[in-house]
Amino acid sequence: MISNDELARLDQQDPLRQYRSEFLLAKDSCYLDGNSLGPVSQRVVQKLQDVVTAQWQPDLIASWNKHGWIDLPLRIGDQLAAILGAESGQIACCDSTSINLFKAISAALSLSSGKSKVLTTTDNFPTDRYMIEGLSKLMDERCELVSVDEDDILNSLSDDVAVLVLTQVNFRTGQLLDMKAITQAAQEYGIRVVWDLAHSAGIVPIALDDCNVDFAVGCSYKFLNGGPGAPAFIYAAKRHLESLEQPLSGWLGHRRPFDFSPNYDASSGIAQFLCGTPSVISMSAVEAALTLYEEISVEQLREKSLSLMEVFLAQFHQSGAAEKLTLVGPRDLTQRGSQLAFEYEHAYGLCQALIKRGVVGDFRAPNILRFGFSPLYLSFQDIGFAVDQLVESLRAGEATQAINNQRSVVT
Ligand SMILES: *Cc1c(COP(=O)(O)O)cnc(C)c1O
Repeated sequence: MISNDELARLDQQDPLRQYRSEFLLAKDSCYLDGNSLGPVSQRVVQKLQDVVTAQWQPDLIASWNKHGWIDLPLRIGDQLAAILGAESGQIACCDSTSINLFKAISAALSLSSGKSKVLTTTDNFPTDRYMIEGLSKLMDERCELVSVDEDDILNSLSDDVAVLVLTQVNFRTGQLLDMKAITQAAQEYGIRVVWDLAHSAGIVPIALDDCNVDFAVGCSYKFLNGGPGAPAFIYAAKRHLESLEQPLSGWLGHRRPFDFSPNYDASSGIAQFLCGTPSVISMSAVEAALTLYEEISVEQLREKSLSLMEVFLAQFHQSGAAEKLTLVGPRDLTQRGSQLAFEYEHAYGLCQALIKRGVVGDFRAPNILRFGFSPLYLSFQDIGFAVDQLVESLRAGEATQAINNQRSVVT
């Protein structure tokens, strides 16, 4: 076991330790669910207060210009571009990830005349698959869902595939796909690639431009800490902006929305993905949350997140309780995003028991217990605490107790 002294020493050496106090988290708890909903930070609280009381309240409609509200989607897009390895002008913050998937897949299909196959993985996040299904109903023969196992992606590429839709980090297993190699291999067959970065944005180093990605989408409420239901983002490579089409032609995607012209004329920039009025309050929270990345690099976060996961596994394996849970996904942590997932027969009950002990992870059907590791606010001592609670809960058999097995709507 790594001793408490050793964990304390690791914390002292941690260059990110000062950021814990930015986040408003309960003292005696360990939040391992930042991959589902990031916590609120001081800077976000301040920004929200400011937007409501110093902008909306006094300046009302003048705020659209005076406080730059109208520019929020592209301004945040450029903040995200810096985080995701893209040049500015290629990302917009808007809508939900699901809606952005609809737009990105449609746009990718619009560039693939004559081809209709949209390849994705069986185990992709459901919304990614559902949006392809919805599009195929709408587009008849021009969109056809084809599913393969994650291990068979490279073998399933062919000239008749139009679009490949992949999630970079599998939401269940935590497996990290090789964005550069897969994108390149797909493009050799003329396939356009859409990456979903929900579980990788802001936590795994990403180089969208360098990987020559066609389109990408992702959430801002997970590791980016933008707030519950915060607007998502969409990336389209500059080389496609003049030629693509996307069907959600809302007025703010127009070249000159304030001409109020009766006919749609799409903007030639990334703004063509904007449908309607930006959700100013939510976006302001995202904008404030992302300022952390002006001080910290994703590489720094990655380094600490790998260490946190390594310590978790080492402690757990030495505890003697580890054989009850099976790690799913790769043991090589460099092949994972920033989460560990374990298969366990009573995963739901164990998750509930741990929450009562102050260790918040989550459960994914049918039998997965997930722990997300966000280096911005987790210490090595937190990890020691979490493993102690896990081991004690397993020893006490709490997972099968009736009180830990009453299910709510959101798991
Ligand atoms: C969380 C998640 C989403 C969420 O989509 P929303 O439309 O924002 O609810 C989409 N894709 C993946 C891979 C996710 O993990």
